[in-house]
Amino acid sequence: MAVIWWIRRDLRLSDNYTLNAALATGKPVIPVFILDLSLATAKRQRRLGFLFQALRTLDLELKNAGSGLVIRSGQPARELERLISETGAKKIFAGRDYTPTAMKRDSLVAKHLPLELVNDQLVVEPEAALKSDGTPYTVFTPFSKKWRSQINPSQLILSAPSHYPPIRLPHSERVPETPNTTAFYASETEAASRLEAFAQSSIFNYAENRDRLDIDGTSMLSPYFRFGLLSHRQAVSFALNAINRIWHQDPSLPSERSSKGPETWLNELIWREFYIHILANFPHVSKSEFNQSFSQVAWRYDQADLNAWKLGKTGLPVVDAAMRQLAQSGWMHNRARMIVASFLVKDLLIDWREGEKWFAEQLVDADPAANNGGWQWSAGTGTDAAPYFRVFNPVLQGQKFDPDGAYVRKWVPELSAFPPSLIHKPWEADLFEQQAAQCKIGTDYPFPIVEREFSRQRALRAYQTAKEQK
Ligand code: FAD
Repeated sequence: MAVIWWIRRDLRLSDNYTLNAALATGKPVIPVFILDLSLATAKRQRRLGFLFQALRTLDLELKNAGSGLVIRSGQPARELERLISETGAKKIFAGRDYTPTAMKRDSLVAKHLPLELVNDQLVVEPEAALKSDGTPYTVFTPFSKKWRSQINPSQLILSAPSHYPPIRLPHSERVPETPNTTAFYASETEAASRLEAFAQSSIFNYAENRDRLDIDGTSMLSPYFRFGLLSHRQAVSFALNAINRIWHQDPSLPSERSSKGPETWLNELIWREFYIHILANFPHVSKSEFNQSFSQVAWRYDQADLNAWKLGKTGLPVVDAAMRQLAQSGWMHNRARMIVASFLVKDLLIDWREGEKWFAEQLVDADPAANNGGWQWSAGTGTDAAPYFRVFNPVLQGQKFDPDGAYVRKWVPELSAFPPSLIHKPWEADLFEQQAAQCKIGTDYPFPIVEREFSRQRALRAYQTAKEQK
């Protein structure tokens, strides 16, 4: 009798605890991916393109090892039931998932079918990172200390299985044609080589470069984590290894390096787990504010402003560059995410859920926990949120993190001929300077859609009022 490996967010063969648990039964394994058509909406084409390519490459890898991927589309519970009756499989193994939708789906499946959930997505499970009174952490720093105390640095990283007990696989549907239009090739091998390359060099300068919009200073691994083409354990072990190499003054290290780099990167990996824990422990955050003091902010519903933000036509160069990067590539730098989120929520006073929704549609790495955490942080309504009175100044942010304006020039070409002194505030250019840059502000590129001090004060009043009402 076979067992089913129900693949969801673990599209890889190496270091996969769920696959390992299925194989450990000694029975033939049927690798299955169920395409939930209710989630496959046209608005998520970019992410779907990435996912479908990942399924194709996984299928190839499986075929090379004498197995293959079975694709079915429909409601997971119904499809699994069908598969069990077709194959006589006795058990379903799946990686534990923590979003409210996934937990609901899994408990429905488990009511009727023999589902076994395996801990694979996180290095530290929510039950293992609790305060001494048994309640979950809601502040990052103490959480990260606890998290670090729970990890086992010598935890085994599993290699991809070389042998699959033979079985005649049931019928598979074809992977839909939607192409992957992103710059991220969706394969496990690609994810592994990106991690390897990052851990050999950029990780050592991560602390200095991670906020620079004009430098590729981050790992750009988020889409691979999102779909589990890369195991989080493996990333953590690379970070720990890099820290170790610095401690032991490994002579093969790049000459320009800082021990802060891998430490800071490890911290970001912990943020990822923190937000997953928050969503698992406080599922209400997916709909409302973590900090209920701000549940009554009087948001503006201004479609024109929202559209200007989505299209990258706000007249604030760094905001527009970031929003166009998102629209054109499906990815955005973390500093840019923080800037555009602050701009939408504070300067435009538009509900953070509108931004969260747009990101969920556009981002190839859109992840319910990190996206929600990032938006609530930016809105000042989340766990470790930026204080509500902190409103990023897009001009200063641009000048600091894109000093020569290379990022803006790349994504907002109409501003490309402005000098660094004007590129983040082109409305200050006089007519002669605009002519020299071949860009007339107000015609070729908009004036800012908000007046900074007015919008800042408006946001502060709205937040203050909401706080007082509670
Ligand atoms: P690196 O800097 O190389 O970091 C390594 C990994 O750590 C990332 O791939 C990611 O998995 C994790 N990570 C890094 N920063 C964070 C963070 N602040 N919160 C949680 N995890 C983090 N990340 C997503 O993966 N999906 C999202 O939908 C998402 N939405 C966001 C929305 C907003 C408003 C903000 C402010 C942040 C959001 N982030 C999201 C977090 C962060 O911006 C991205 O993870 C990061 O930019 C990905 O780039 P990277 O892989 O080069 O990251």
